[in-house]
Amino acid sequence: MERVKCLIIGSGPAGYTAAIYASRANLAPVLYEGNLSGGQLTTTSEVENFPGYPEGINGFDMMDDIRRQAERFGTDIRMGTVTKADLSSSPYNIYIDDNTQIEAETVIICTGASAKYLGLEDEKKYAGRGVSACATCDGFFYRKKIVAVVGGGDTACEEASYLSTLAEKVYLVVRKDYLRASDIMQKRVLSNPKIEVLFNHNVEGLFGEGKVQGMKLVKNLGKEDESHYEKEIDGFFLAIGHNPNSELFKEYLETDSIGYIKTIGNTPCTAIPGVYAAGDVADSRYRQAIIAAGSGAKAAMEAERYLQEKA
Ligand code: NDP
Repeated sequence: MERVKCLIIGSGPAGYTAAIYASRANLAPVLYEGNLSGGQLTTTSEVENFPGYPEGINGFDMMDDIRRQAERFGTDIRMGTVTKADLSSSPYNIYIDDNTQIEAETVIICTGASAKYLGLEDEKKYAGRGVSACATCDGFFYRKKIVAVVGGGDTACEEASYLSTLAEKVYLVVRKDYLRASDIMQKRVLSNPKIEVLFNHNVEGLFGEGKVQGMKLVKNLGKEDESHYEKEIDGFFLAIGHNPNSELFKEYLETDSIGYIKTIGNTPCTAIPGVYAAGDVADSRYRQAIIAAGSGAKAAMEAERYLQEKA
């Protein structure tokens, strides 16, 4: 069985940045990439808000840059997905693809979160061509355009408000006849002249030549007066929640009601010594690459301190 000082799980900005710091601190980290090498950013088009890229950069290329930076200092980056974790005692036992077992003195969990989608074929068809799950990332491309946001929670209201500062018009598509968001967010949305809330609406499809040009809506689904119609839009934003990828660790680590791993104070430390959670798997609030990268760096620094104190 292989024993490692530092095992990093996940290959988004948090995982790769943890790897840069851990390898430069001589922890000889091993990183398992998971099934989406490079993480969520590889599915967005252009990243314009990560410092250091004044002209913006393609998400895939940016992750490739960070990955190569981690490799340069000796991180052992491997393909493979963690399928089981036993964090009951140190060293921790991590299983890869159900067969390889690794003993790790420290574990940095950077498994990220996945945005929820409606499950429409058209969401895949127009991925990166008008469909997005992150207004902060992609809103800028829709200046003076017409966009739709799906969802009725705080995220949807926040994204609709943000997009209204850029776009000419924002439709907020809400499946019920009320918003689930907090009062303050509801008021902000309902009093914003640029936002039109479409209550009792579901989206059943998108259309457009090579990019999103409109959405197909159902009003009052399943009721007597059910009706179907279309609206022209340029951008379609999902804001129906995220699923943090924390399932494997829930037996050992505390999570909030949605599943985000709870960390101690402003650190990536969990209640288990030597086990850290960084990036979106532990962050329901910011969900940004730069924040994830910062927390990955913190996690590696904590791992180094922990190993030094233990030695
Ligand atoms: P929520 O789970 O709170 O809301 C999800 C919304 O999406 C609901 O309106 C839900 O509708 C709708 N939805 C879910 N599935 C579908 C579907 N298939 N079709 C149409 N609509 C759907 O998620 P959020 O991401 O908004 O928030 C998560 C947590 O984070 C919350 O606790 C929230 O308060 C918090 N948060 C706080 C913020 C802040 O304080 N600034 C900012 C953002 C989030 P329905 O109501 O019908 O179920």
